[in-house]
Amino acid sequence: MSRPLTATIDLSALRHNYQLAKRLHGGRALAIVKANAYGHGAVRCAQALGDIADGFGVAAIEEAIQLREAGIRQPILLLEGWFESSELALIDQHDLWTALHSLEQIDAIEAASFDKPLHIWLKVDSGMHRLGIHPDDFETAYRRLMASGKVGKIVAMTHFSRADELGCDTTAEQIARFQAAIAGLALETSLSNSGGVLGWPGARGDWARPGIMLYGGAALDRQLPDWPKPVMQLDSRLIAVRELPCGEAIGYGAHFVTSAPVTRVGVVACGYADGYPRVVPTGTPVLIDGRRSRILGRVSMDMIVVDLSGFDDAGVGSAVRLWGEGLTADEIASAAGTIAYELFCNVKRARLVYTD
Ligand SMILES: *Cc1c(COP(=O)(O)O)cnc(C)c1O
Repeated sequence: MSRPLTATIDLSALRHNYQLAKRLHGGRALAIVKANAYGHGAVRCAQALGDIADGFGVAAIEEAIQLREAGIRQPILLLEGWFESSELALIDQHDLWTALHSLEQIDAIEAASFDKPLHIWLKVDSGMHRLGIHPDDFETAYRRLMASGKVGKIVAMTHFSRADELGCDTTAEQIARFQAAIAGLALETSLSNSGGVLGWPGARGDWARPGIMLYGGAALDRQLPDWPKPVMQLDSRLIAVRELPCGEAIGYGAHFVTSAPVTRVGVVACGYADGYPRVVPTGTPVLIDGRRSRILGRVSMDMIVVDLSGFDDAGVGSAVRLWGEGLTADEIASAAGTIAYELFCNVKRARLVYTD
């Protein structure tokens, strides 16, 4: 018997979520599949979206080339652009689209030669203050690129810092700064990540860039009626069952001590080496045969102990769901003080299985 930890990826839910993003936003959408599709498997996810996606977004050229080598022919955008100018030849060769976020990168384009016209997403820093050209420099950057003779198309893009916070003014301010930067230029635009798609009708552009919502993670601080479905089910099984008397400590650091005359507990094959967060406390929910129970004591590297009080039918081999349908990754993420993005990206060692 092999270790039972499995991440089952529901590709029809992924397709549903992509179509939801397109329907809410209108226009076209790049499915963001960076970081191995947030841990869901970039090639399989891109293939599953192959006939419906308008294109894909990745963080690095290696990720783009992996998709090209797997036969993905749609547009692929490098969301952070290139890191060294030697990548420009590969961008040309693999027919990639690239973000451009600094004036120095325009110098590099002017100095290079290309077989095909470049497709540039010119990034404006509208307030995130990570990557992007100052709004005042946007028009100059645009004119220099057009004058270089090397660029076929320019899309204006920006990225939100607080689109997940529905009550916050920052997104509206960023939209206004972006619109002012591109005023008078007839350009296609792209503003919205998942939070923008779900929560900000004023942030529509020609292209959406949904990431986390494709995978069913919360992109807003409030759930709305149109909401993505979970895609990853992280499942394992009980590998041992114990009955402990009162006053016995469980796991590293003795963080949980039994108080009932008899406490029945189960041991689950999943731990922090699989990407389950170590920091969650006793009481964090888990599903056993589809019903909610709780973890007891510290998460260890390969195992978690769970409460089987009231689960008389559960035994070795019983199904345990760490997150997925019925128990969202967001709930576990908030117990860990983080976001589902990080949990998904951290999943490792689990067998990845795909269902249609
Ligand atoms: C990662 C990323 C996205 C997707 O963000 P989500 O919050 O996951 O939807 C969109 N745009 C850019 C530039 C990104 O880096």
